[in-house]
Amino acid sequence: MRNFTYLRVGSVEEARRALGQAGATLLAGGTTLLDLAKCGVAEPETVVDITHLSGLDAIVFDATGVTIGALAKMSTVAADRGIREQFPAISESLWQAASAQLRNMATIGGNLMQRTRCPYFRDPVAFPACNKRAPGSGCAAIGGATRHHAVLGTSEACIATNPGDLAVALVAFGAEILLGERRIAADDFFLLPGSTPQREHAIAPGEIITAIRIPASAAARRSTYLKVRDRQSYEFAAASAAVGLALEADGRTIRDIRVALGGIATKPWRAHAVEAALKGQKLSREAIDHAARLATEGAVIHGDNRYKTCLTPRVIARAIINLKLRGIA
Ligand code: FAD
Ligand code: SF4
Repeated sequence: MRNFTYLRVGSVEEARRALGQAGATLLAGGTTLLDLAKCGVAEPETVVDITHLSGLDAIVFDATGVTIGALAKMSTVAADRGIREQFPAISESLWQAASAQLRNMATIGGNLMQRTRCPYFRDPVAFPACNKRAPGSGCAAIGGATRHHAVLGTSEACIATNPGDLAVALVAFGAEILLGERRIAADDFFLLPGSTPQREHAIAPGEIITAIRIPASAAARRSTYLKVRDRQSYEFAAASAAVGLALEADGRTIRDIRVALGGIATKPWRAHAVEAALKGQKLSREAIDHAARLATEGAVIHGDNRYKTCLTPRVIARAIINLKLRGIA
């Protein structure tokens, strides 16, 4: 880890100006930044500390949804009563992420900006070839160990999975990322790798995430986040699903359904085909299984990750059934 300049700024405006310097990067909870600096992936020249800025950690509800400040801690948002009642999938996605210690440090803004856990990306000494870290250098993962790599949204340049949990729930419920005055749909905020995998987020140099906005909806109120992983806690998703369901008055016909997936794609993945197949249908095991199988159509397998195409439909089906069993669908 090399030396850097530490800058504690007094306002968002000052932070934006500081970010204009070459090699400057924001410090929020520090849980990703320090991790990446230690493994030699992040080499900031200036670290711009925004942790203490006031007014950026509020959780504010109104008639149409909630606005969560970028500096709100993961644990605070997960535990918030209004979030648990109106957006259970958001709360559950946060509870199932990282560890208690990390959630107490880490912020919502930093969470959305976390980088992939691809082991080749995180070890520049052993694996110089990584198009995401060093554009044009190749991809050490393709042809390597790929158990945790993506099957959807991949390109010839990169097959790394987006590791976030919260981001999956945000995409499912049509959230927006607020970058000061500019707003961008969460689905558009995360970029496909294409030929430029080094660019993972639609954030311009000098921009700062100030908040996220999640619209209220019946589907968000009756939602859940299911994360399947190699061990029960403190592990990234092998496959995950944020699901929200709203039924007609008959209690059986699906009026609205939201499905987004994690752990299997290069960005949080909205499963539009699954949603379209279920909307207007009667809720039955047969309809769920048929629709869930559509989730991984077009999947591209690399070596060890074929299991994700079998696991994903089961995770979706289980998440929907869990909602039904809890009696909240
Ligand atoms: P920082 O480390 O301070 O910043 C991260 C990046 O975001 C930096 O590049 C920083 O410049 C930038 N940034 C920070 N705030 C802003 C802002 N407001 N606007 C623009 N850019 C900003 N996450 C999961 O979702 N699921 C998991 O299971 C999970 N497991 C983990 C396990 C471990 C061991 C670790 C270390 C992390 C894990 N994480 C997991 C990731 C964790 O959630 C993130 O590290 C954390 O949310 C980052 O938040 P932070 O505030 O600490 O960000
Ligand atoms: Fe790098 Fe992406 Fe290849 Fe991983 S999958 S080595 S992040 S280019």
